Amino acid sequence: MHDVALPELLSSRGFEGAGADLALAELRRLGLTRRGKTRIASAKIGAVDEALGAAFLRRCSKPACRRDASDARVEVFVSAGHCEICGGSDNRRAVEDMLAAMRRAGYARLLVAGGSPGTRGDLERLCAGRVGLRFVTEETTPNRKTVGSLLGWSDIAAVWTSTEISHKATAVLRGPKVLKVPRRGVAALAAAVRDRCEAAGRSGP
Ligand SMILES: [Zn+2]
Repeated sequence: MHDVALPELLSSRGFEGAGADLALAELRRLGLTRRGKTRIASAKIGAVDEALGAAFLRRCSKPACRRDASDARVEVFVSAGHCEICGGSDNRRAVEDMLAAMRRAGYARLLVAGGSPGTRGDLERLCAGRVGLRFVTEETTPNRKTVGSLLGWSDIAAVWTSTEISHKATAVLRGPKVLKVPRRGVAALAAAVRDRCEAAGRSGP
């Protein structure tokens, strides 16, 4: 009979640390496992998912991801990817917040340097033509003429510093419009741009 490691099963469902303890207690209460067992039969996975879904609301720590008043389940804090409210749409939420902040700051053109083709594609899809979006990629000629004119076009420019970018390109990407984003991922970039827009709004007229 196939079985799987219980901690890994719980972790793959978002239950870690104190959340995993709560989940285990519930599974024991229902007789799906018992104290001291570290593995569980694969055939029980469906029942485990059903039991955990009935007992717990998995939510992330974002204030917007509040439990509905009609939901009697116990709240368990999980990473955003496992949040039942924002779920895998963490990037979407972050981009929506960024677009709103850009609108408030009066910014319509975003230049992004670096990132992988995948993350750039995600960002493009999520922005869906609602903001001017251009990229400095490994394909962009890394000189002052090309990169400088892109920077000149932009209202705000974000550089993903964790990815490969030509030093010649980053040398041009300087000045008050430019912010550096050390963390990978669309959500991190969107949050950094949002914060910059909000700071600009506060210090503006
Ligand atoms: Zn959430």
